[in-house]
Amino acid sequence: MACQQFDLVADRLQISHDERDRLKYPKRSMTVALPIHRDDGSVQVFEGYRVQHHLTLGPTKGGLRYHPDVTLGEVAALAMWMSWKCALTGLPYGGAKGGIAVDTRKLSNKELERLTRRYTQEMIPFIGPQVDIMAPDMGTNEQVMAWMMDSYSMHMGYTVPSIVTGKPVNLGGSVGRREATGRGVAYLVNRATDTVNLDITKCTAVVQGFGNVGSVTAYSLAKYGAKVIALSDVNGGLYNAKGIDLRKLETYLAEHNTVAGFPEADPISNEQLLTTPCDILVPAALERQITEKNAAKIQCRILAEAANGPTTPEADVILDQREEIFIIPDILCNSGGVIVSYFEWVQDLQSFFWTETEVVDKLFRILETAFTQTLHLSRKQTMSMRQAALSLGVSRVREAKKMRGLFP
Ligand code: GLU
Repeated sequence: MACQQFDLVADRLQISHDERDRLKYPKRSMTVALPIHRDDGSVQVFEGYRVQHHLTLGPTKGGLRYHPDVTLGEVAALAMWMSWKCALTGLPYGGAKGGIAVDTRKLSNKELERLTRRYTQEMIPFIGPQVDIMAPDMGTNEQVMAWMMDSYSMHMGYTVPSIVTGKPVNLGGSVGRREATGRGVAYLVNRATDTVNLDITKCTAVVQGFGNVGSVTAYSLAKYGAKVIALSDVNGGLYNAKGIDLRKLETYLAEHNTVAGFPEADPISNEQLLTTPCDILVPAALERQITEKNAAKIQCRILAEAANGPTTPEADVILDQREEIFIIPDILCNSGGVIVSYFEWVQDLQSFFWTETEVVDKLFRILETAFTQTLHLSRKQTMSMRQAALSLGVSRVREAKKMRGLFP
């Protein structure tokens, strides 16, 4: 998917084949074997990955994903998307992504810690605050980042907060990092409602996925006045035409660890959720949710891609013809996370920390610029919002490579 999208944009930008290959191939791709002691005394080996896409603009940056289906190819695609995302938002980074093929639900906390520390150890020759900086992604969180930071710091012999972002605030994390992605999604949705002449306080929203990104997006959209009528997590979906009471849901979630079974809504399937009539549809889970099978059935005005790669290129062809749907493409829509990661890294490097107001204000400024530039290009050159966002990202990396030249 990532290569297909890239090729389309490269055709449009008339990038020559030599240049194309330089932009496409990841600089470094790593697979590591991760043996750990299980609590029962046995040893199990997990597979870990890290792909660093390009180093032209600075260190590489991107999350670490723990999911049973993680593969090197998926990580490489996600790393490429991170490159265009960072370039689109003007961050001095190349893209990267890491992952471990693991079902975290099957590991104890101690086992998860051992796995994380072993992965960090294996990565030590390839990471650093000026080389590659990890962050949370699906299946990882602040605790995982704290273990990584500690493992790296133990190796160096002094504390290095800038080795990862998305850390707990009292270990050098940034205020507002946890909420950044969802907050950013809601900000951009609000901007998009202006663009397509909708009043957000009269809008209905559907959110797929209720992890860090999906949940904060739902709460933030509700703050803007939208009514969340359907949402889901891995265990199931909920629908209530009158709106789901997010406060009550939070209490339910704290007790049951899932949104499934919440009594004040009807259960719905994933397919029903994605095709529910609504104004704002937010896929905030895995890749490849909107495909050629359901793209024609989606009934929203704004498709806000909070997940990475939720729409396949085949679905894109269908959506392109449905002019009533305004897409906020993933690399723009979920960029709030890496933007505040950048703020966290900057704060760590200068050991000087900002207030939440400063963080949110700076976040919204960057999002505003990226949104306006993307919208402007998409209108000026009659291309989709995805093509426009990717064109901006790819062009910036291309320009940087041109200016630096080819060594030796
Ligand atoms: N995992 C997030 C993403 O896909 C955040 C990456 C970061 O903060 O470095 O954008």
